[in-house]
Amino acid sequence: MEITAAVVPARGEPFEIQTLDLAPPRTGEVLVKIAASGMCHTDLHARDGYFSNLPYPVVPGHEGAGIVAELGAGVTDLAVGDKVVISFPFCGKCEPCRADHPAYCTEARVLKSSGRRPDGITPMSRVGAPVYSCFFQQSSFATYAIAPATNVVRLRRDAPVEILGPLGCGLQTGAGAVFNVMQSRPGQSIAIFGVGGVGLAALMAAKVAECDPIIAVDLLPSRLTLAKELGATHALESKGAETLAEIRQVTGGGVHFSLETSAVPSVFRLAADALRSMGTCVLVGSARAGTEASFEMPVLQGGRVIRGVIQGDSRPREFIPRLVDLFLTGQFPLDRLVTRYDFADINQAAADATNGAAIKPVLSWPE
Ligand code: ZN
Repeated sequence: MEITAAVVPARGEPFEIQTLDLAPPRTGEVLVKIAASGMCHTDLHARDGYFSNLPYPVVPGHEGAGIVAELGAGVTDLAVGDKVVISFPFCGKCEPCRADHPAYCTEARVLKSSGRRPDGITPMSRVGAPVYSCFFQQSSFATYAIAPATNVVRLRRDAPVEILGPLGCGLQTGAGAVFNVMQSRPGQSIAIFGVGGVGLAALMAAKVAECDPIIAVDLLPSRLTLAKELGATHALESKGAETLAEIRQVTGGGVHFSLETSAVPSVFRLAADALRSMGTCVLVGSARAGTEASFEMPVLQGGRVIRGVIQGDSRPREFIPRLVDLFLTGQFPLDRLVTRYDFADINQAAADATNGAAIKPVLSWPE
């Protein structure tokens, strides 16, 4: 079928809207008519060549949401017309997948950024020439996307699908770090370093979990203002040692939990140093290969834990509907993070995401 997509023609080039062909869904896959797709820094990493295995031209997009338009053979747990969010891919067979931790799937690199299905075939083409797709096994910067049914999550009928795409990756990452990994008790403290989309999702989750204090740290005053509106008890402009002293003072010696979202080594160091004894620092910021960070070894002797988490360690089909319920009861106001764009303005959305003018761009096609 003929589709329209936002294509990166070559490494580092801006997005270009093109007409492409999309093959039908195969066994175990579904075709989703995309209502809207979130944009995340990972999409810009795809544009800029951070993934060494990603070929060009390519269609990024991995926070797709829309309506199931067609089922491939063997798909019985979804129906045409279902409202869905497309989440991250996983193989279902490796050790982490079998242990019910699909976020750590050992096949993730191939499934997310090879630009193809696991068998090497890409369903998109342009005048007979392949256009690499299957980015996170979805490539949702298009009017239609093909995804394995296993990473397609059905939503309740009253869900506003046009703004929920970011639950598939960025917002699930932040909220999952709190709900699934930290599993904090009411009254425990948290410091969130970097309050972009991921950090603010974590902040909203920390509020639901009744963390106190909830400390937001960022460089941008506009984000700190929003963080306070969304439940931060303290919003600190990031100033290194001075910020650390403030956190220790507010918490009486350090936080129970810290979340690092920036992937900047000096901020990671701050997040580790902000912990009290037996505190846990969760790293979700995605740094380029080769990035090194350091901290003092005695930090760990206080029983502290420093760990990485992908995708909030979530099982999307259980976790995303839970976040939708929280959104619809006003407890997870993700709409406050969203700036909507027409796909025609995708390069503006990318610029706004980079300079901080938009926290979470969500792109949609004209009706
Ligand atoms: Zn796996």
